[in-house]
Amino acid sequence: MAKTKAAGSVPNKHLYSRLSYLHQAATFLGSQVGNTHHFESESPAADQSRLQLARHLLTDLRATSLKSQIRLSPAMKHTICKFCDTLLIEGETSTSIVENKSKHGKKPWADVLVIKCNACHGVKRFPVQAQRQKRRPQREQAPEDTRKPTTIKQPGLSDEKVDVTMNDG
Ligand SMILES: [Zn+2]
Repeated sequence: MAKTKAAGSVPNKHLYSRLSYLHQAATFLGSQVGNTHHFESESPAADQSRLQLARHLLTDLRATSLKSQIRLSPAMKHTICKFCDTLLIEGETSTSIVENKSKHGKKPWADVLVIKCNACHGVKRFPVQAQRQKRRPQREQAPEDTRKPTTIKQPGLSDEKVDVTMNDG
């Protein structure tokens, strides 16, 4: 008897369940870090083994996502160190600062949230103000094609936001 697919069913549902379960398990373990006083027998070493287990789960999560080609949601990705798979917990396993590398910090839209992993010291950077670029298939055709030839570019007016990513100093 051939399996019939129910209409509207999600393909690879078990993989989504797996990804979700792994992430929930890891964040649950992470939420227990610092709560070591439930039981008198618990020591700070228990936190370390929780974080180690969480990392193990997240390594598995990443492998599952890569193999199944299922993208993790940005929110999920933001909680995982991309270098060592540590669960990033603000103030616990990670520290975050806002830096602004524009000249004298004069450009408020150049604010970048920098999250540093305390395990491997890798950093993730998130522009705070700049709009996210769309994924390639969703991008429009290059605007030059549709632009009227009579339009004169005025530097420093509408294009000011462009240099957010190019500004080095
Ligand atoms: Zn790390």
